[in-house]
Amino acid sequence: MKAVRIHEHGSIDVLMWEEIKSQECPDDKVRVRIKAAALNHLDIWIRKGFDGISLPMPLIMGSDGAGIITEIGRDVTNLKTGDEVVIQPNTFCGSCPACQSGKENFCQTYGILGETENGTQANEIILYPKNIHPKPKHLSFEAAASMQLVFITAYQMLVRRAKLTAGEYVLIYGATSGVGSAAIQIAKYLNSKVITTVGSNDKFPHAEKMGADFSVNHNDSNWVKKVKNITDGKGINVVFEHVGASTWSSSLRLLARGGRIVTCGATTGHKVNIDLRHLFMKQQSILGSTMSDINTFNTVMKLIDQKVFFPFIDKIFPFENIRDAHTRIEDRCQYGKIVLSDNG
Ligand SMILES: [Zn+2]
Repeated sequence: MKAVRIHEHGSIDVLMWEEIKSQECPDDKVRVRIKAAALNHLDIWIRKGFDGISLPMPLIMGSDGAGIITEIGRDVTNLKTGDEVVIQPNTFCGSCPACQSGKENFCQTYGILGETENGTQANEIILYPKNIHPKPKHLSFEAAASMQLVFITAYQMLVRRAKLTAGEYVLIYGATSGVGSAAIQIAKYLNSKVITTVGSNDKFPHAEKMGADFSVNHNDSNWVKKVKNITDGKGINVVFEHVGASTWSSSLRLLARGGRIVTCGATTGHKVNIDLRHLFMKQQSILGSTMSDINTFNTVMKLIDQKVFFPFIDKIFPFENIRDAHTRIEDRCQYGKIVLSDNG
């Protein structure tokens, strides 16, 4: 079989579409023929490497995928060959106190496919049944593969962590990013008032299509003031952060009394300043979040099945063009998700 693998961290040149040996399917796992696999910003971080964290090498990339079950281990009873499925990207032990209490993303052995173990960007993947979920029938493999990681991440942030409610103002950075597009849809589902940022005026229609009530161009020197004015000077109740150092001071300046900043990433840098006086006087909260628990995954999948949340694909590439796919994300020219497909 072939897979997108890295043997070391670095530029797009480390991405290899290469032949590797197929493994035996153990009794407690299933083999999935991958039809489509999505990229996430996480892929860029993993390719470049994290300070002080070592990942297993060589590593098959990819957290999101959809395909068809082609082989069943003899102990697996709830699935069958021919089933069309999507991949659940969280990995966890299933038996520790955190897992038993439904907080799988707090498990000591918690990991993510395509980061801590081999991922989805390959002809096939062998997984435990807990990493398999039925594919929404109304979606193509490409569309189905594009939704899991960004929707579970954004849902966990807005619903479980920040507890965003109807009528509250939420500021979502990066309307055309994968996680930003998902967050807009979720925030509108919660009936909150969505303000989003874009990097150029031609991206306003995408923000509107995702459901944003207001959009501002973050290259406009007045954008912070514009956002404040939208809220009649009261500020933002929930800031959805995944940008990091370059937006942090604006996020704090815009935060209302009792406001919450929830963050899942730091693309532009991870060192920031906080004025503690504002934090305690205005009774604000700063919340970290990563991926989701399984309850959130199942909730998101149900809402996708009900067509409440919809896919937003920017471009589909064949697997072998993986370097072009990374370049498109890094150049920030995408409108939604980048997907690899065996029909691409
Ligand atoms: Zn566990």
